[in-house]
Amino acid sequence: MPPKNRFAELLPEITAWRRDFHEHPELLFDVHRTAARVAELCRSFGCDEVTEGIGRTGVVAMIRGRTNSSGRVIGLRADMDALPIKEQTGVPYASKTPGKMHACGHDGHTAMLLGAAKYLAETRNFDGTVVCIFQPAEEGGGGGREMVQDGLIKHWKIDEVYGMHNMPGIPVGQFAIRPGAMMAAADQFEIVVTGKGGHAAKPHDCIDTTVVAAHIIVAIQTIVSRNTDPMQQLVISVCTVETDSPAHNVIPQEVKMKGTVRTLDGKLQDFVEKRLAEVVEGTALALGARADIHYQRGYPVTVNSEENTYFAAEVARQVSGHCDTNTPPLMGAEDFSFMLNERPGAYIFVGNGDTAMVHHPAYNFDDQVIPFGSSWYAGMAEARMPIA
Ligand SMILES: [Zn+2]
Ligand SMILES: [Zn+2]
Repeated sequence: MPPKNRFAELLPEITAWRRDFHEHPELLFDVHRTAARVAELCRSFGCDEVTEGIGRTGVVAMIRGRTNSSGRVIGLRADMDALPIKEQTGVPYASKTPGKMHACGHDGHTAMLLGAAKYLAETRNFDGTVVCIFQPAEEGGGGGREMVQDGLIKHWKIDEVYGMHNMPGIPVGQFAIRPGAMMAAADQFEIVVTGKGGHAAKPHDCIDTTVVAAHIIVAIQTIVSRNTDPMQQLVISVCTVETDSPAHNVIPQEVKMKGTVRTLDGKLQDFVEKRLAEVVEGTALALGARADIHYQRGYPVTVNSEENTYFAAEVARQVSGHCDTNTPPLMGAEDFSFMLNERPGAYIFVGNGDTAMVHHPAYNFDDQVIPFGSSWYAGMAEARMPIA
């Protein structure tokens, strides 16, 4: 495939961009330096239009093909934000900001899409328009949603969108994808248990909120094990438990708990939201206490459209020879889902080899992935909108 040769030549340059981003990680929407560099590079490539400030700090770079008889617009998306993690890679280009780190490889995604933009702007071997989308705040801020709300899809008239994420454990040079649900919906909940506090040696005069909370934690898991079809994936995790007294001899008046719900199916998500309230409130009632639950929907399920998935896999095979089209879905979440909710498209994994998992302090993006990732982005534009 032609792009691959070009990306072998461009590898030192793209690697330098990647390592510069790695040295200067920024969180959530505060990706000002990264976004400014992305915009500057896209302008230097000769992209036809570079727009900053979409979804607060997102950047959109538009590249017109040699012809436009198709009238089609393909969106290619990368994320730019880092994580609040103290880096432990020991690489010479490690984060210069203590406590911030590119531990999810978004530095690599941004660099690979920049590489594709440079190649596409210099060759323009496609019949239509490419819109390169650099989004902020994937790690919990919903930057993808904000870009959509800011008119990303409508203003640039995007017909299809494609995204990519590196994945440790998959060999470098291999891809993995699946049609349908690829990443989970991530919702969060907060539970407040109210009872009657008092002396720990006189439990009969109290309504013990910690015992109620413990029963609730256990009862919640019956939604997974007893109320849900075992062939369906569901995770409910209670992640924090906090009482209003630090003492060892006080029954607290109130216990607060926080947790997350992960689903791959909208109907199951609705069911869990309803059932969680019943189990939490009912368990508290049975033990003479009161529990209130606040449930909040987060990132939706990332759903790959079938035809686009197999097309994306075919392009991946042309790039590297390897693409698994039946990779299991992950219960992590991804805000590219907001773009896939608007338009058909697909989200693909590119192997990062035998490295620490993403979000680990020793994780690092492997620069050998760059020619594969950039080739896939560019290949999607060329193959999806071929010159007649
Ligand atoms: Zn991440
Ligand atoms: Zn990520």
